[in-house]
Amino acid sequence: MIKEVERVKSVDGSSKYLFNDGKSEKGNFEALYFYPGDENVSKSSICMSTQVGCGVGCAFCATGKLGLKRNLKSEEMLEAISKVLEDEKNDGENIRNLDSIALMGMGEPLHNYEEIKKFYHQASKVLPVRHISLSTSGVTDKIIELANDDTNYNLLFSLHSPYNEERNKLIPINKKYPLEGVIKACEYYYNKKQKDSLGLKIKASYLLLKDFNDSDEHAKQLTKLLNNDIFKVQILLYNENENLPFKRPSIERAKNFERILNENGLETKISISKGQDIAGACGQMAGRKNLQKDIEGR
Ligand code: SF4
Repeated sequence: MIKEVERVKSVDGSSKYLFNDGKSEKGNFEALYFYPGDENVSKSSICMSTQVGCGVGCAFCATGKLGLKRNLKSEEMLEAISKVLEDEKNDGENIRNLDSIALMGMGEPLHNYEEIKKFYHQASKVLPVRHISLSTSGVTDKIIELANDDTNYNLLFSLHSPYNEERNKLIPINKKYPLEGVIKACEYYYNKKQKDSLGLKIKASYLLLKDFNDSDEHAKQLTKLLNNDIFKVQILLYNENENLPFKRPSIERAKNFERILNENGLETKISISKGQDIAGACGQMAGRKNLQKDIEGR
């Protein structure tokens, strides 16, 4: 039985929840509810953690600094989502508009493979949701296993650089699973599963970091790497964190990057993260000081 420890509401209407399993000192994990009805989020969605902390250690991510504490059980994820929906309903939200659940908060979902498989089967039966998505940092062998399995996740993957050497610095498991292999695995997934059953392209998220991966050359290299028929790109603007060295690029820089991709036929959209004031935005879920202290101190 999990318990809600804290809920923080953003000025933009999204909420960040902190849960604990009620017995373990290392049992804190988070979920985000994104408020429906604006240009960035047309319907409500929930971003759910799959692990407490994360062992991947991405250089730009506050959660990665915590290390991996433990895997979450599928029942815990489902219970957390039910509590979020109940809470939001009490706030007057129409939860029938729940459009998607994304396994993409704290943790690498494919490092908790058996539980995310169970989660899919349970969630798809009991929740009013159109899509269940999963975002991976690029665990090649598990992407292939997922393609051959009996789940039907909408797949997203973190790209962040078209160059292996640079991606090694951002996402350390790139050394084990280099980019070319990840892209091939995603293409396999698309052809095996996503193309017919969901009719959706695979979303490659690209976190734009000022003076690191935001040059015209990066954009042009991306257009060589990604097949326009299979992938689309979601550009995210980095949310600065006082403990991390990266900077947020300007919106003009992001628009220029988007233009180069679009001009080359690669479907691209800039997403402005919600929940920035509550450290709920991309790569920041463990970023708000008191929550991070809670997690580290338990
Ligand atoms: S970005 Fe995702 S995979 Fe990388 S350290 Fe953070 S939680 Fe883990």
